Amino acid sequence: MEGVMIEAAIREDICRFGRSLFERGLTPGASGNISVRLADGDWLVTPTNASLGFLDPARISRLDAQGRLVSGDPPTKEIPLHSALYETRAGARAIVHLHSTHSVAVSMLPEIDPRAVLPPLTAYYLMRVGQTALVPYYRPGDPAVAGAIRGLAGRYASVLLANHGPVVAGDTLEAAVFATEELEETAKLYLLLRGLNPRYLTREQVADLVAAYGLKLPDTQ
Ligand SMILES: [Zn+2]
Repeated sequence: MEGVMIEAAIREDICRFGRSLFERGLTPGASGNISVRLADGDWLVTPTNASLGFLDPARISRLDAQGRLVSGDPPTKEIPLHSALYETRAGARAIVHLHSTHSVAVSMLPEIDPRAVLPPLTAYYLMRVGQTALVPYYRPGDPAVAGAIRGLAGRYASVLLANHGPVVAGDTLEAAVFATEELEETAKLYLLLRGLNPRYLTREQVADLVAAYGLKLPDTQ
């Protein structure tokens, strides 16, 4: 009974966070998807062709650990993004994928380091996101993108798909949503400051944050 109540609350949370992201213009039309891994190994994921702004908790797809549909509408065709990140990040409980404008824009810039998409602009980027890896362009739904994400070996909770959008894992759905928002705001700052020679956090300031908050950045692991 307890499990059923928790699942009902998670379904409501997926709809609530989805609507919030959609209404702030963070993913247009029927783009973007959200998943949550349940305690029994099944997972909930938003359906294919569903706008995050208008989700119905009863129609969210429930998949078993092998990715087979148990109940609800057919799942998003971007399932490989989620399954690859869950496979390589054992602690991940939720994943958010958006087509958010500033993050997508940054993914196309020539100077981007694929192992550190954004420089250390703010403390909250490091604290909530850590670092973001760039994955090359794949056609949406192409299962090969899963291989590219697995190739990162779980070192990144935040991955940016070139010319497409971010995929971000978290310990909770709220953490995954907040990290995706932080990534988008940091991408926006980067674009605002591009060419203006801004001061980034120094190596010492980054080391201080890593020590104070026990951050696990990919290059400190
Ligand atoms: Zn997508």
